[in-house]
Amino acid sequence: MKPAAFDYVVPRTVGDAVEALGDTRRKAQVIAGGQSLILEMHLQRIRPELVVDINRIPELDRMIVEADELRVGALIRHAAFESADAVPGPLGTLLSRAVVNIAHPPIRSRGTMVGSFAWAHPASEWCAIGVALDATVELIGPDGAREIPAGDYFQGPHRTSRQPQELITAVRLPLLGGNTGVGFIEQRRTHFCFAQVAVAATLTVNDGLISEARIGLVNSADRPVRAHAAERSLTGIEIGRAQTGGYRLTDDDPFARAGRIAAHEDAAPLAEPYADVEYKQQAIAVLVARTLREAAADQQAHDAAQRGDHR
Ligand SMILES: Cc1cc2nc3c(=O)[nH]c(=O)nc-3n(C[C@H](O)[C@H](O)[C@H](O)COP(=O)(O)OP(=O)(O)OC[C@H]3O[C@@H](n4cnc5c(N)ncnc54)[C@H](O)[C@@H]3O)c2cc1C
Repeated sequence: MKPAAFDYVVPRTVGDAVEALGDTRRKAQVIAGGQSLILEMHLQRIRPELVVDINRIPELDRMIVEADELRVGALIRHAAFESADAVPGPLGTLLSRAVVNIAHPPIRSRGTMVGSFAWAHPASEWCAIGVALDATVELIGPDGAREIPAGDYFQGPHRTSRQPQELITAVRLPLLGGNTGVGFIEQRRTHFCFAQVAVAATLTVNDGLISEARIGLVNSADRPVRAHAAERSLTGIEIGRAQTGGYRLTDDDPFARAGRIAAHEDAAPLAEPYADVEYKQQAIAVLVARTLREAAADQQAHDAAQRGDHR
C-alpha cells in the first residue's frame, strides 16, 4: 500500500517545529528516524495530514552528560549506544548490552531512542530501561516546556501522556554509580523479531549488601514495567552469597525468588501467537533471575578491578 497524501515541512528550529505541530487544522506526526512511522503510513494505520520532519534541527542532535544525568536529544540514533564507551560508567554498559537487541543495523542507524519513547511499544528495550531507571521525558508544546517521569509517561500500547501537539526534545537517564552492576537479557523467536520478553537490571551494592535493585521488564504487560515488588525482595541481600550460589537454589535463592515475584506480582503479560501467558510468566521468572546474576557478576568484577587498582 502507499501512504495517503500528506503535507511535509522541515523546520530548522524547535520553535518552528512546535508551531507546525500546533496547527490544529491538520493532524500532524513528527518524523524522526521513520523506522516505525513510515511502515504505519504505508499500511495506512496512521494517516497524517502533515508530517513534521525534525531531522534538520541541530539542537536535537546532541547527547550530553549534565551533572549526574545523560541527556539524549531527539535525533540521537540507536546506534550511538553500541559502544559501551559512548556513555560513561555502568549506564554505558547497560545501554550497549541492550541496543544490540533492537532490530538490525540499518534500523539502528536511523531509529532514535526518543522515537522509541514516543512510539511506546510494550516490547521496546529503551522504554523498559527508562521506567527502571526513572528516566525523565522532556516535552515542549504550544503551552511551553514540561517534564514527565517515565513511570507516569507510559499509559498503554502506543499510549503516553504526551499531547499530540507536543514535541519530545530529549530523554534524561541517570548515570549509574560505580558500585552498580548491570545486566540485560532478551528472548525472541528469531534474530529480527521484537522481544518475547527481556529484562534490564541494575544492582547497587554497599558494604557487601544490595542497597538498591532496579528491574525493567520488556513486553511483560501492555506497557513497560518496573518490577517494584521483585526489587524490594532484594534489598539487604548479601551479594557475595547470592553470586556464589550460597543460598539454597530452590528455596531461598534471592534472584530466583525475585524472578518469581516479578512474573506473578509485577508483570501482567498478554498472550501472543507464539507465547501464551503461562509461557511468558516462566520466561520472565527465568530471565529476571539470570539478568540479576549477570548484574551481580558485573558489580563483583568492577569491585575486584577497583580493589586491584588500589593494591
Ligand atoms: C523490522 C523492525 C524491527 C524493529 N525491532 C525493534 C526492536 O526489537 N525493539 C524496538 O524497540 N524497536 C524496534 N523497531 C522500531 C525502531 O526501534 C524504531 O526506530 C523506533 O520505534 C522509533 O524510532 P524512530 O526514530 O524511527 O521514530 P519514527 O518512526 O520517526 O516515529 C515513530 C512515532 O513516534 C513519533 N515521534 C518520533 N519522534 C518524536 C518526537 N521527538 N516527539 C514526538 N513524537 C515523536 C512519530 O510521530 C511517530 O508517531 C523495529 C522496527 C522495524 C521496522
